[in-house]
Amino acid sequence: TPLVEMRGIEKRFPGVHALKGVQFELRPGEVHALMGENGAGKSTLMKILSGIYQRDGGDILIDGTPTEIDSPRTAQTLGLSIIHQELSLMNDLTVAQNIFIGREPRRRFGRLDEPALNRAAAGIFERLNLHLDPRTQVGTLTIARQQLVEIAKALSYRSRVLVMDEPTAALNDREIDELFIIIRQIRDEGAGIVYISHKMDELKRIADRVTVMRDGATVGTVSAAETPVAEIIRMMVGRELDNETL
Ligand code: ADP
Ligand code: MG
Ligand code: MG
Repeated sequence: TPLVEMRGIEKRFPGVHALKGVQFELRPGEVHALMGENGAGKSTLMKILSGIYQRDGGDILIDGTPTEIDSPRTAQTLGLSIIHQELSLMNDLTVAQNIFIGREPRRRFGRLDEPALNRAAAGIFERLNLHLDPRTQVGTLTIARQQLVEIAKALSYRSRVLVMDEPTAALNDREIDELFIIIRQIRDEGAGIVYISHKMDELKRIADRVTVMRDGATVGTVSAAETPVAEIIRMMVGRELDNETL
């Protein structure tokens, strides 16, 4: 059974038919790239999955069961997490405080139980082989490290579906390597990862399958390893085009 199945998804904004019967399936233990030119509808589809937008038509099945995702809170409860391009961390708080914000263990007089918080965060980092110190102030970390904190935060909700919207935009080559190690690890634990990117080389390295969207519709879903880049580009733009032009 797929973790997520979206069937015939429709979405209209005033003057824009943004999603026209989109099909999308995410299996457990796969990195699924979602590709398409700017305006194709990728973010809208993922905002519907994460409860930010409501669909106008179609069905969403989670573990094979038709499901309503009426708010981000509901999405979280269902184990769906989205990591937006703009990170949502508080610079003045520690790594551990950021991960458990809003659900921190407290001691008497309402004070934060910092040691408990740090232990809980350290447990998550150990599981993921993340070299992060729970006590570090987030504002002092590089963007790449902050991104890892976001991932740890998403996984602390026991998420089984992780959506990453252009996660490497601000990372250097070494940081991308690190991120990919973590992504593969999460995948190998059985989670499904939706990976939104425009970069063909990344797609070839990290994705198992690719769904291509164009002009609000699904063009198709193909194997990342077995499909030549030129073919994926042709699916994205709807005609022949070489890599240089993109
Ligand atoms: P992508 O993420 O693939 O670049 P989007 O999902 O952001 O595409 O956008 C798909 C289409 O829907 C675009 O035409 C965009 O202008 C439109 N759109 C997205 N969000 C809104 C919104 N909140 N209000 C009106 N139009 C929107
Ligand atoms: Mg866009
Ligand atoms: Mg987008």
